Amino acid sequence: MSDPAHKTVWILADQLSVTNAALISARKGHDRLLFIESRKTFGKLSYHRHRLMLLLSAMRHFAEERKDEGWQVDYHKLGDSLDMLSSLSRHYDSCNPSEILITRPNNHDESLALDSLRKKLKCPLRIIPTTQFLCSQEDFAELAQGKKRLLMENFYREMRRRTGLLMESDGKPTGGEWNFDAENRGTLQDWKKAGSPLPSPLARPPQDAPTREVAVDLETWFPSAPGMPKDFALPVTRAASLKWLDHFIEERLPDFGTWQDLMLQGEPDMFHSIISPMLNIGLLDPLECAKAAEAAYRNGKVPLPAAEGFIRQIIGWREFVNGVYWLKMPAYGELNALEAERPLPSFFYDGKTDLNCLHQTLKEVLKGGFNHHIQRLMILGNFLLLTGIKPQEALRWFNEMYIDAHDWVMAANLLGMALHADGGFMATKPYAAGGAYIRKMSNYCDSCAYSPEIKTGPGACPFNLLYWNFYDVHQDRFASNPRAAMPVRSWRKRPESDRRVITREAWHYLENLPNRS
Ligand SMILES: Cc1cc2nc3c(=O)[nH]c(=O)nc-3n(C[C@H](O)[C@H](O)[C@H](O)COP(=O)(O)OP(=O)(O)OC[C@H]3O[C@@H](n4cnc5c(N)ncnc54)[C@H](O)[C@@H]3O)c2cc1C
Ligand code: SF4
Repeated sequence: MSDPAHKTVWILADQLSVTNAALISARKGHDRLLFIESRKTFGKLSYHRHRLMLLLSAMRHFAEERKDEGWQVDYHKLGDSLDMLSSLSRHYDSCNPSEILITRPNNHDESLALDSLRKKLKCPLRIIPTTQFLCSQEDFAELAQGKKRLLMENFYREMRRRTGLLMESDGKPTGGEWNFDAENRGTLQDWKKAGSPLPSPLARPPQDAPTREVAVDLETWFPSAPGMPKDFALPVTRAASLKWLDHFIEERLPDFGTWQDLMLQGEPDMFHSIISPMLNIGLLDPLECAKAAEAAYRNGKVPLPAAEGFIRQIIGWREFVNGVYWLKMPAYGELNALEAERPLPSFFYDGKTDLNCLHQTLKEVLKGGFNHHIQRLMILGNFLLLTGIKPQEALRWFNEMYIDAHDWVMAANLLGMALHADGGFMATKPYAAGGAYIRKMSNYCDSCAYSPEIKTGPGACPFNLLYWNFYDVHQDRFASNPRAAMPVRSWRKRPESDRRVITREAWHYLENLPNRS
């Protein structure tokens, strides 16, 4: 039996950072590392196979790397671990640690579960704050204190000052502006005029033996998980993630800003980085990603708007949604300000819809567990908002399907930004858009059974009908919102006969949405 003074550091699958707060406080050769693949945890929802492959393969690699460095590791694989408590008890019986140390989990429910686990363990469980984010929960709460509404832009400027990223010695932002978003909104027409540039393909790593072993284990324990094992091709180690980041900075970042909002059929990731899967589990560090973009700008390799746009996503949006999550949970998860109650249509699980924008986006996520931001917000989120799907049903689906899904990042993005379920705390106006926006920012409409130019009757784009119907249903709420009053006014100005036809056709569409039986 080991020396009782030895402690155990328990590391969760989304805490695989070499600077994990609990890990760096432990002593190699003395303390032990514990990893648990609890079947109850990984089977809590019907997760996409690629999400599970990423988490489990990365955790197995991380543990092996620590072993190679000389750490003692106790690893409980899926087949050996019914749930966290049984694995923890087994670990205690065999290793007898003086305490178990863990970094505070990133998600609220896991954090609560730890608090209740603590009462059932035979040794103390000590939880220390995470350093996986640049703004701590306490700092964010302080910044939010006394404010009725939080603005991401103000928070972002504060983060620029704190990190010194893209700041000059006189305290002014580099280039004289904080935000170059106005230069970052290339449309389909702009893209065509620019010669239709396409990104260089990502250097997708081949699957190695541990990843293939995970795929076999998943076939045993979660055979009905969506997605095919052969399609999984993401980095699962820190070294491979750093290579992936370098490739993005070299090859894609220069064009990232300009085409950030564009959606093209058959181009699921455009010029985006696809670093969120690795960033969210600790393989990459947010500051190093932002610094890499700044260095590329300072070395003259990328334009300022591209570097600034990318840095804003990481130190602005990412930190902001995490701050809002911890500020507002647990109530945030239950919000439904627009009283949306419709069930999620069945085509979210099979992609079978004749709305081409929706079909293409769903096809991509069902295959690879990924869509880029505008597809998530302006195709899927927009559709769910306009059709009044219950936010918590949508949240469950997003949490199941995306390789980078974690409750802390999903809640504010989906419930707040996309579905306006928080009544406008995250976004002052609803992100509602009709077919004209989708036509402008994508080529989906070119191969669709519908057309945004047809307003009613056969071939009319359902996004248009649903958009106006949304403002009909919620007109009283939005008429007094300075940022959303215009569509309400336009709607009210239309002849009543037009309004009647549009709402009738929209309701017909809504009533015929296919349910999962
Ligand atoms: C409805 C909805 C659901 C989302 N779900 C998730 C999710 O589960 N996990 C997740 O990481 N992001 C989520 N996002 C945010 C964003 O869409 C993804 O971070 C981004 O698409 C990931 O792709 P990327 O790494 O290529 O990002 P890039 O476009 O290359 O951006 C770089 C990084 O910035 C960060 N970032 C950018 N926008 C956001 C944002 N709004 N919130 C948080 N971080 C941001 C991410 O870490 C991202 O990796 C969601 C957004 C919406 C609207
Ligand atoms: S016509 Fe409407 S439904 Fe079809 S792709 Fe365009 S926006 Fe989507």
